[in-house]
Amino acid sequence: MNSIPVSGERLGELCRVFGTPFHLYDEAAIRANARRLMQAFSWAPAFKEYFAVKALPNPYILQILAEEGCGADCSSLAELLIAKAVGLGGAEVCFTSNDTPIEEYRQALAMQTIINLDDITHIDYLLQYAHLPEIVSFRYNPGPLRKGGNEIIGYPEQAKYGLTGAQLLEGIAICRDLGRTRFGIHTMIVSNELNADYFCETAEMMFRLAVRIKKIMGVSVEFINLGGGLGIPYRPEEQAIDLEALGVKIRTLYEQILKPAGLGKVMLCMESGRMMTGPYGYLVSRVLHQKNTYKNYVGLDACMADLMRPALYGAYHHITVIGKEDMPMDTLYDVTGSLCENNDKFAIDRQLPHIDTGDILVIHDTGAHGHAMGFNYNGKLRSKELLLRPDGSVKQIRRAETLADYFATLDYPGLEA
Ligand SMILES: *Cc1c(COP(=O)(O)O)cnc(C)c1O
Repeated sequence: MNSIPVSGERLGELCRVFGTPFHLYDEAAIRANARRLMQAFSWAPAFKEYFAVKALPNPYILQILAEEGCGADCSSLAELLIAKAVGLGGAEVCFTSNDTPIEEYRQALAMQTIINLDDITHIDYLLQYAHLPEIVSFRYNPGPLRKGGNEIIGYPEQAKYGLTGAQLLEGIAICRDLGRTRFGIHTMIVSNELNADYFCETAEMMFRLAVRIKKIMGVSVEFINLGGGLGIPYRPEEQAIDLEALGVKIRTLYEQILKPAGLGKVMLCMESGRMMTGPYGYLVSRVLHQKNTYKNYVGLDACMADLMRPALYGAYHHITVIGKEDMPMDTLYDVTGSLCENNDKFAIDRQLPHIDTGDILVIHDTGAHGHAMGFNYNGKLRSKELLLRPDGSVKQIRRAETLADYFATLDYPGLEA
């Protein structure tokens, strides 16, 4: 569990200056973590982390990660345009989409990104409506060959993503017949997984696939993208993945499997989202109301529009009551938002210190799949995003939504914010 990077006093000041609720992102911690990842894979002939933009689609954050050497993993038109605005293109961007509209492929092609094809039929789709890129990458779905899977993505054979092994080989053959010589392979099997062994198994599976492609087709893939899915310790008792140890284990596999097969120059890629920014974001909110009925409720000025994960997945997010860190956790609360939707709870049956109206609550680990996932159901508006800079200053990097934003798609007389 990360400790909040500002003092309670400073946080109170930020609440007064900017108004609650807001997500606060810790730039120094994001940079330090990105450097740890790069360091852990610095042994590889080439390594690239493509930050999964959907986790935190704010160009200011992507710019910080780009400065640390990361690229962008995009899976929609909007995300491609964010990457472009930050100055990313070419091999700095990979486009890993599914059920892809042609406008998105056209944008990805115009930016000369690495395209991870989700299906064999997309070769024809591209040929018919756009063109096939010079480098072709395929997303592999091992199906029942790979035991396990986990609860967010599920079992590979139930997942909509990727090609079967046979389709992947056929896809390479088709592209080769079309004159393509440069290939990559990709997979993404788990999500929010804290067991590093899963990633080693994934690496081993992909390395063996690369060797098979070489043996059967005489094609040496240029890169292997291991996807995202590295978990973070949302609960205080959980342990973060040891990136250095993971790097060492994957290096061993690389040397055992790829090198002897003449694939010792293959570039390794990742598309982590959650692990890159998740632990370094905090949703800061104030207590509006308390009610005591069959349970004790504290109602915040934030709601599931700002953070969906607890409502959507029953996910745990740690909560700190500012100024009461050392008080006994002697009261059982449900911590809610204001949506007319009984799922709108940040915590259920959470033991916390006694809470007063006006207290500031910090919800931890909101830096990935937090603000980004929010919706406008019930006419609720999403919060602003603030960046805590390494020098301690704070900059607003996204304003809060307004009613004018909410009504902007309607053209109805008399409806005004
Ligand atoms: C969501 C996603 C990621 C990032 O997943 P994390 O769990 O945030 O690491 C990477 N690649 C693809 C294709 C995705 O859809």
